[in-house]
Amino acid sequence: MAAEVSVNAMQRVVVLGSTGSIGVSTLDVIARHPDRMSVYALSAHSRMESLAAQAAACGAAVVVVPDDAARARFLAAWGGGATPPEIRVGAQALADTVAEDACDTVMAAIVGAAGLPSALAAARAGKRVLLANKEALVAAGPLFMRAVREGGAELLPIDSEHNAIFQCLPHGARASAPTEPAAGVRRLVLTASGGPFRRADPADLGEVTPEQACAHPNWSMGRKISVDSATMLNKGLEVIEAHWLFAMPPDRIEVVVHPQSVVHSMVEYEDGSVLAQLGQPDMRTPIAYALGFPERIGSGVGLLDLARVGRLDFEAPDFARFPCLRLAFEALRAGQAASVALNASNEVAVQAFLEGRLPYTWIARVIEAALEWQAGRSSVTLADLDGVLALDAEVRAYAGDLGLA
Ligand code: NAD
Ligand code: MG
Repeated sequence: MAAEVSVNAMQRVVVLGSTGSIGVSTLDVIARHPDRMSVYALSAHSRMESLAAQAAACGAAVVVVPDDAARARFLAAWGGGATPPEIRVGAQALADTVAEDACDTVMAAIVGAAGLPSALAAARAGKRVLLANKEALVAAGPLFMRAVREGGAELLPIDSEHNAIFQCLPHGARASAPTEPAAGVRRLVLTASGGPFRRADPADLGEVTPEQACAHPNWSMGRKISVDSATMLNKGLEVIEAHWLFAMPPDRIEVVVHPQSVVHSMVEYEDGSVLAQLGQPDMRTPIAYALGFPERIGSGVGLLDLARVGRLDFEAPDFARFPCLRLAFEALRAGQAASVALNASNEVAVQAFLEGRLPYTWIARVIEAALEWQAGRSSVTLADLDGVLALDAEVRAYAGDLGLA
């Protein structure tokens, strides 16, 4: 049975990764609609002071923290006075909390493959799943989509490109987990801003600092996805995400660079029509779309002043300048094990870059090495979550042998 959120019932939301960029935007939208939605639980991995402030502001009944030290920091930040929420500890508590009856909707906004088990648990429990955590789909697309189907979950994409595509698909084709491309659709066209180094001379990129890589021209996001946007591996992850979400073959997914980030993506139909979704680059729009679906609700995002934007530019992506984009297409075509290797090696490389241990230009080299290593091994089985997590750990160990982990 598909999860249904009645218009009259209060929608109870669990926000995984509430202290992050998507988490904060989600709480902002929820707070605008106290008559129709409330927060049941929040989770965060660090910044317990922020988590305590959030829990106090939204009245969460439960918080999930990674360990006992975080629990102590949460309680210290909470202070005396009001009774604290129930504090649960550990990764299993994330999966258990999203499966509870007290939860209708799960915002999966943990960064990285670390968010996979809890997102999968929400799908299996048949919840409305708002998926921001693209790494979960990249690492475990077939597994995740099967869990959505078998659990009867309602899957709504939060990534702005996929949310745009979802909005542009024919109404009847907005199934949670289609098994074939929507009828009449020729191609999906993902827009990409090109990030902060769209025009940079590749010879200058060796000296790039984390601050420069995280200075995205249009979007304000967490540090990992900001670096992914600079390398355009983010767009590569999104191609793989679109493949699984919309059952679309890789050769019918295009990327076009659009520096203004106003057109969030497009669907091209057999008759030549191209439908696009436009808006300001503010994640509260796709978040509100998914929280309110199928209704439209306020998000706090202002008007799109096209006269002020002035022009919308488009250009083909430069695969030589952005090798990570090419590597992602190759990984998608090579199969799921390659996608796991792509994602895990990128997570390790980006972390090393952010910590000053790896030059920016080596991110692509680490991913390429991991893909070659993976291709040279005998076949691995990825039948279940354990298989995916085991390969993910092996790739991280391989990157560790390169001196990165
Ligand atoms: P962020 O770094 O700002 O926040 C990440 C959140 O996850 C934090 O609350 C953190 O405490 C938690 N977290 C980190 N590691 C964890 C772990 N091991 N276990 C449990 N929780 C952990 O990231 P973000 O920018 O909000 O991105 C979140 C996800 O949404 C990513 O998958 C990203 O690709 C996707 N996304 C983000 C944006 C955006 O605009 N920020 C847009 C599209 C998609
Ligand atoms: Mg995106």
